[in-house]
Amino acid sequence: MATTDEGRRNARFAIIGAGMSGILSAIKLCEAGFSDFTIYEKAERLGGTWRENTYPGIACDVPSHLYSYSFDPNPGWSHRFAPGSEIQAYFEDVARRYEVEPSIRFGEEVVRCEFVDGRWRLETSEGRRDEVDFVIAATGVLHHPNIPDIEGLDDFEGALFHSARWDHDVPLAGRRIGVIGTGSTAVQITGDVIDEVAALSLFQRTPQWIMPQENPPYTDEEKRAFREHPEELSQLRDDLSRLFAENFSNAVVDADSPQMKMIEDACRANLENNVKDPELREKLRPDYRAACKRLVVSPDFYDAIQKPNAELVTEPIERVEAAGIRTRDGRLHELDVLVLATGFRADQFMRPMQVIGRGGRKLDEIWADRPAAYLSVSIPDVPNFFMLNGPNGPVGNFSLIEVAELQLAYILQLVELHRAGACREISASEAALAEFDAQRTEAAKSTVWMTGCRSWYLDSRGIPAAWPWTFDRFRKEMAAPDLAAYELVE
Ligand code: NAP
Repeated sequence: MATTDEGRRNARFAIIGAGMSGILSAIKLCEAGFSDFTIYEKAERLGGTWRENTYPGIACDVPSHLYSYSFDPNPGWSHRFAPGSEIQAYFEDVARRYEVEPSIRFGEEVVRCEFVDGRWRLETSEGRRDEVDFVIAATGVLHHPNIPDIEGLDDFEGALFHSARWDHDVPLAGRRIGVIGTGSTAVQITGDVIDEVAALSLFQRTPQWIMPQENPPYTDEEKRAFREHPEELSQLRDDLSRLFAENFSNAVVDADSPQMKMIEDACRANLENNVKDPELREKLRPDYRAACKRLVVSPDFYDAIQKPNAELVTEPIERVEAAGIRTRDGRLHELDVLVLATGFRADQFMRPMQVIGRGGRKLDEIWADRPAAYLSVSIPDVPNFFMLNGPNGPVGNFSLIEVAELQLAYILQLVELHRAGACREISASEAALAEFDAQRTEAAKSTVWMTGCRSWYLDSRGIPAAWPWTFDRFRKEMAAPDLAAYELVE
């Protein structure tokens, strides 16, 4: 570690992952005067979730003008909720314009990080070694596909893939498609492919509430106005942020709020008014509250599932066979293509990377019960290692870009202590994490996520792992670190 003329310490960083948060980290580190960093990216292309998820119909359900970096608005978004390919192009464009790309080592997965003598020693899949002062884990949340434990998956003779590994060489036109799952992904796929395929069978284990949401395109005039009047664009972003927080983010953490009731009413009316066949309507009716699972928004799912070539299969899956799916009633649903829209293992975070903190403490041991992090960014005994969109953060009910920006600004304040010479090592204390954990567990009881459903928000005890408070509270917590919660080692 070098020291500058003014006696300030220089630091070297490793950023793990070149998705939305990794690109952001590089830009903000440079802005803060830290130019010594490498981004390790296991894939050959940046973009994270938007690189991996290319399934038909993919879009973000956070309005695009909110799902953009605050410092780099995009007047050109085509729709209120832009398609995934446009979002991927946006990140690639930002990375190019901010000259992030030369700092990325593509095709190198960090497999091990060990904290030795006050620095992190990294090892990559290519056998490269690096030594850095700080690690920023920008490794994503919904990243590890959940492959369902269904008998016979390997026996299927058609094309089979997870939604996050879409095989674009497989034709869909005129073929029989099976989709397992009814989350946001399955709903988007269904709406998009229904008019192309010969038949679509949607295998539903649990019905979902569907929030109707139109997705109008922006006109050329609107886009021109955004370009010519950046202040309008910035006002739009602020308005969207406020509305999103007031009407959705704050509603889900207060199950009894009037906004939550509005969401429930809208979902119920959508089902009652837009599904004609009473039998199908009952099959699609969840027996838990709207937004208990991550709320699914869609302008076209109910239309799609009522088309003559669509079938909602509610009979449980018995097994997969060479020709298709056999349901428990003995029926074989013959398929050419089977899509597993079965979600992700949301408890993995940066793993399988091995992380070994102070005193040889292994992350897998620290997280033996469940992943936890103080304010979602720091783990006791894992100093100088910070996470973006880590455990217990506001995932699923906020714009993750806003979240990552706030977290990074907070992390940079901790890093600043190192630069100023106030400490060499910094990590949250055990006591601070324990108190945070107790408080969030208590607060989780008021959230809609605990009103009786199964979802990826819940940990192994059935407690929501996500931030259970309002966005305002998150913003306030991230404004400045409370140093009493940190262990500083000189
Ligand atoms: P998901 O919400 O976790 O849904 C997975 C689906 O697979 C559920 O319907 C689940 O059924 C079903 N499933 C899992 N294992 C199964 C099994 N063994 N047998 C039968 N069914 C099984 O996953 P996702 O749809 O990929 O969405 C994940 C998250 O990504 C979303 O919640 C959202 O946060 C994000 N996302 C957002 C967008 C967007 O912006 N529009 C789009 C896609 C994804 P159960 O409900 O019974 O468990």
